[in-house]
Amino acid sequence: MISENSSTSAPTRRKTRRRKTAHLKLVPESRELRERLRARCEEVAATLDKSRPVGKDEMEAISRQILAEAELGEGYVGWIMVTLSSAFWRDQISSIPPSRRLFLLPHCLKHAEGCPADYDEYGLDCKTCGACSIADFRGMAEDMGYKVLVAEGSPIVLKIIVSGYVDAIVGVACLNVLEKAIDKILLAGIPCMAVPLLSSDCRNTSVDEDWVLDMIKVPYSEQKPETRSYLHLMRAAAKLFEEDQLEVISPKLRGGQRISELNGHGLSGLDPIAATEAIAYDFLTKGGKYSRPFITMAVYDAMTGGDATLPQGEKVIEQWPIGVKRTAMSIETFHKASLVHDDIEDDDQFRYGEETMHSRYGIPTAINVGDYLVGMGYRLVSRESKDLGAEKVVDILDLLADAHQRLAEGQGAELLWRDSLSKRLRPIDALKIYALKTSPAFEAAFFCGLRLAGEIDTYVDAIKSFARNLGVAFQILNDLKDWEGDSNNKLDAGGDIIGGRPTVLWALALEGLAEEEQAELERMVEDQDRSTGEKIHRVKHLYEKANVFEQANQLVDKHQERAEAIANDIQPEELRQLLHYLIDSVLERHSEHQPTIQIPEPSFSSPLSILAQP
Ligand code: SF4
Repeated sequence: MISENSSTSAPTRRKTRRRKTAHLKLVPESRELRERLRARCEEVAATLDKSRPVGKDEMEAISRQILAEAELGEGYVGWIMVTLSSAFWRDQISSIPPSRRLFLLPHCLKHAEGCPADYDEYGLDCKTCGACSIADFRGMAEDMGYKVLVAEGSPIVLKIIVSGYVDAIVGVACLNVLEKAIDKILLAGIPCMAVPLLSSDCRNTSVDEDWVLDMIKVPYSEQKPETRSYLHLMRAAAKLFEEDQLEVISPKLRGGQRISELNGHGLSGLDPIAATEAIAYDFLTKGGKYSRPFITMAVYDAMTGGDATLPQGEKVIEQWPIGVKRTAMSIETFHKASLVHDDIEDDDQFRYGEETMHSRYGIPTAINVGDYLVGMGYRLVSRESKDLGAEKVVDILDLLADAHQRLAEGQGAELLWRDSLSKRLRPIDALKIYALKTSPAFEAAFFCGLRLAGEIDTYVDAIKSFARNLGVAFQILNDLKDWEGDSNNKLDAGGDIIGGRPTVLWALALEGLAEEEQAELERMVEDQDRSTGEKIHRVKHLYEKANVFEQANQLVDKHQERAEAIANDIQPEELRQLLHYLIDSVLERHSEHQPTIQIPEPSFSSPLSILAQP
C-alpha cells in the first residue's frame, strides 16, 4: 500500500532520468479504468503533505505504486502523474477566484475538417459553430470569469503567470505537452490542474468532457493557499525590470524621457547626454526569463528561512533590504550587456522579437550602451555598503568581476575558433569553452545569493561544481535542440553549423569519423558550392554516422547526475530543494514527439491584451 503522507520534507535520493518516455504516456483505454484510477489518485492525493509541491521523482514513484497496486504496467505513469497532480492541487485552485485562473485549451480539439475559425495573434479565434467542444468549454469558463486561451505550450503560459495576470492554470492538453508543463510549471509550485486528451495525435482529439466541466467548476472558497511556491520569487525577479520599478530601484542619473514615450520620433527629442541611459534602461525592460536574478533571490531566500516561498511570500520580499534587489538586478544587467555585445559579434538581427540594439542604433552606439550596462551592473552593488556592509559588497564585487572575466574568456575562445582557419576541436576543449561561457553566470547568481545571506566558504566547492555541471549540461542540451529546429530558440535546424560555433557535437564527430570524413566536415563551413540546406543535411548524416547525438545525450546525463549528487548532499533543505528545482527546470528534455502541424504561437507583447480578448 502507499503509505500515508508519502510526501515528506526528508531529502529524497534522486536518480538520473534521461530516457525515452513515449511508452510511459499511454492513456487508459476504457472510461471505467480511467475512473477507477482517478478515484485512487484522489485518495492518495488526500494523504500527501500539501506544504510543498511534490517533486517529479517522488510523483513518479507514487504513480508507479498506484499502478503496481492495480496490477497495471508502467505505460500509464504519465497519465497517473497528471491525474495525481491535479488532485493534489485541487484545494489550492479552489482558494483562487476563477477571475485569477487561466483556462487553456488546445487547438487540436477543434473539428479539423470543417472548423471556420482562423488563427490570429491571440491563438484560435473560435466562431462558436458548435462542431466541437471548444465553444462550450470556453463559454462556460468565461461565464465564470476565467481568462481563456486556445493556444499551446508551457513557455507562454509561464510568461502569463509570471507577469501576474493569473495565479493558477487549468487546462486540457496531451501528455506530451503536460510532460513539459510539469517541469516548467508544476515543480515551481504554480497551482495547475489538467485533464489529459485521450490521444496525442494533434488532430481531431477528444477528452473526457465531463471531467473538463468538473475542473472548470471547481468552486472558489476563501481558504488560504498552503503550498510553497517559487512564483513570488519569479514574479519579483521579473518585476525588477518593469519600467517604473526599475527606475525606483535604480534611479536614473540623467532623468529625462523614456524611449517608450518617444512615439516613433527617433532620438532627436532626447538630451544627447541622457540618450545612452535612456536606451540602456529601455533595453533592460525588453524581456527575457530573468533566471539569473531569480536564482540570486531564491538562494538568498533559501538561506534565510525560505519565507518568500510561503503564500505570503510577496510581502516577505517587499521587506528585503534594497541591496538584495539591486544585487539581483546587477546580475541581469551584466547579462543584458553581454547580449548586446553578442548580437554585434554574431550580427543577429532580432532579439526579444524586436530589432537588435546594433541594428536599430548602429554598432558604435550598441557597444557603448553595452559598456554603460556593465558600469551600471557594478554601480548597483558598489553603492550598497551602508545597506549590506562594506565587506559583503567587496566580496560580491569580486565574485562578479571573476565571473565577468571568465565569461569573456569563454566568449573569446568561441570567437577565435569561429574566425580561425583550422576547425579542429577536441571534445575536452569544447566542454572547457562551455564551462566558461555558461557556468560563471549561474555561479555568480548563486554566490551572490549566498553572500547576501551570510558567509559562503563552506559552499564554494559544491556550488562551483554544481554550476559547472548544470551549465555544461544546459549548453549541450542547447546544441542538441539546435538540431530539432526548436521553434522557441532558432528557426531552423543546424543553426550552430551556419553560425560556425564550436560545439561538442562537432568535436565528437571529428573524433569519431574516418580521416576522409573529418576533412569533409572541416571543409563544410567554408564550402561555397553547397547550399545551406545541403550542408546541414550532410553534417547531420555525418553526426549520425559518428553517433554524436547519443554520445552528447550521455554527456548531459553525466553532468546532470553530478549536479544531482551535489544537490542531494547540500544543506539547508530549502537550498537542496531549490537546486533540484533548477536541475529539473533548466535541463528540460525534449520529448521524442514532434507536432505534425505548425500553429502560430500567440504574440506576447502584452499579456493583458491576450487575456482581454473575448
Ligand atoms: S466550435 Fe470553434 S473551434 Fe470548434 S469547430 Fe467550431 S469554430 Fe472551430
